[in-house]
Amino acid sequence: MDLDKPHEECGLCGVSGGEAAIERIHMGLHTLQHRGQEAAGLMGSVDGECRLHKDCGLVEQVFSRIPPSWHGRTSRAISHVRYSTAGGSLSLNAQPIMVDMVGHRVGIAHNGTLCNAASLRDELQREGAIFQTTTDTELILHLMARSLMKHHNGLIWDALEDSLKQLKGAFSLLLMTHDTMVAVRDPHGFRPLAIGDFDDGGYMVASETIAFNVPGARYLRDVEPGEMVIWGPNNAMASRRFAPCEKRAHCIFEHVYFARPGSYVFGDSVYEVRKRMGRVLAQESPVEADVVMPIPDSGMYAALGYAEESGIPFDMGLSRNHYVGRTFIDPGLVSRRKLVTKKLQPIAEAIRGKRVCLIEDSIVRGSTCRARVHTLRAVGAKEIHMRVSCPPHRHGCYFGIDFPEREALLANKVASDQLARALRLDSLAYLSRDGMLSCVKAFPPEAYCCACFDGQYPVLPDQLADSPLPE
Ligand code: SF4
Repeated sequence: MDLDKPHEECGLCGVSGGEAAIERIHMGLHTLQHRGQEAAGLMGSVDGECRLHKDCGLVEQVFSRIPPSWHGRTSRAISHVRYSTAGGSLSLNAQPIMVDMVGHRVGIAHNGTLCNAASLRDELQREGAIFQTTTDTELILHLMARSLMKHHNGLIWDALEDSLKQLKGAFSLLLMTHDTMVAVRDPHGFRPLAIGDFDDGGYMVASETIAFNVPGARYLRDVEPGEMVIWGPNNAMASRRFAPCEKRAHCIFEHVYFARPGSYVFGDSVYEVRKRMGRVLAQESPVEADVVMPIPDSGMYAALGYAEESGIPFDMGLSRNHYVGRTFIDPGLVSRRKLVTKKLQPIAEAIRGKRVCLIEDSIVRGSTCRARVHTLRAVGAKEIHMRVSCPPHRHGCYFGIDFPEREALLANKVASDQLARALRLDSLAYLSRDGMLSCVKAFPPEAYCCACFDGQYPVLPDQLADSPLPE
C-alpha cells in the first residue's frame, strides 16, 4: 500500500457449481488482494444453507478461520476484499453483506461507488429503513426489499432488476441466495467483471482474469455493461439486461495502476497496455540518460517499454521489501507513511554517478516521490529525470477509487513549470491523455473514463450536481 497512490476499494470473486468452491474462491480472491487489504469475507451455500464469514484482515488470515466443515459442502459462494474509504473502516462494513428479506436470505458484494447514495439513503430513511452499515452497498438490499414488497411478490431477481435501474454510478456486483448466484455490471462498465468456467461445469466470476489462473478456470467473457448474468439451481448460465449499455466509461486507471499485469481488463492485457504506455512516453518525452529505472512494482512494465523504445539500458536500482505490509494493514495515515519509507531500498551500485530516467506510473500527492528522489541523490545519482506513464491527476474520482481531495493532488498544489523543482528533479514529464488512450486497443478512446485527469465525468455525481464542474 502506497501513500502516494489512490486505492481501489474492492475486489470480487464468486463461484457457482463444480467442485471445491471454497478452495477455488480462496485461490481466486488471494490474487485480488491488491484491490483491498483491510477486510475480506465469504458467503457460501453450505448444504443449501446460506452462511457468512467475514472479518478485518488479509484473505489468508480471514479464510484460515472458515469452519473446516464448510469445505466440500459448499455449492456456490461469493467473496470480497475491501479497502475502506467511504463508509469508514468498521469491521461491520466488511462484505459480503447478508440479510433476510421477505422470505429470502440474500447476500451482496460490491465493487464501485454509487453517485446517488446520499439521496437514496435519505429517501429510504424517511420511509423508515434502518441501516446496519455505512456503506452504499446496503442501499441496494433496501431497494430490493422495498421493490419486493411493492411489486414483485417473491420474485427476487425481478426486484433486483428494479433496484438496479435506480442506481447511478459504478457498481460491479455479486449477489446470491442459497441456490442462485448473480453477477451485475453498471450500464457504463466502470469497473471490470469477468466470467470464467471449469472443466467440471463450475463457473467463476472475478474482478480480474488473473483470479482464474491458479484455480484453473478459462476466461469466457466479461459481464457486459447493463447485464445481469444468473446461475440458477441447475447452474445453467442465463443473461438478462436491466439497462442498455450506455456510453462506456471503463476506468483507464485500472490499466495505468490498479489491475495486476497478468490480468486482462476491458479486453486488453494490462501488461501489454503498460508497456505501450512506456513506449509512447519515450516517444513523447525522450531524455538523455544512462539508465531507465522503474519505481517498483507498478512502474515496471512502463519502464520496460520506455527502455525498449529509447534504447537506454533498463536496470533495477530500487529494491522492494516484500515483507513490509504482510500483516494486517491499518489504513491510518501514520501507519501508511511508515510502510512507504520501509518499502523501497536503493542499490547504490546501480545508481552512483548515473543519469537516471526514473519511471513512475502516477503521482498523486507527491509525498513519497520526494522521499524517493532524496534517496537516489543520497546514494550518488548524477541526474534524475522522472517520466510518468499517465497525465497529471487534477480531479477526484466518484466511481470507486479513493483519491485525496482535489487540493491535496500535487498537480493542483504546484504550478506545472515548478513541479520538477518542487520534487527536486532535473526534469519531469507526463504521458499525454491522447498518448495514454492510444495504448488501449479493445475499445475506442471515448469508451474510457479519464475524469480524474480531465474532469469530464461520465455521470454527474450528486456531490457535484449543485456546484460547477472543476476547471
Ligand atoms: S475518475 Fe479516474 S480512477 Fe475514477 S473511474 Fe474515472 S479513470 Fe478511473
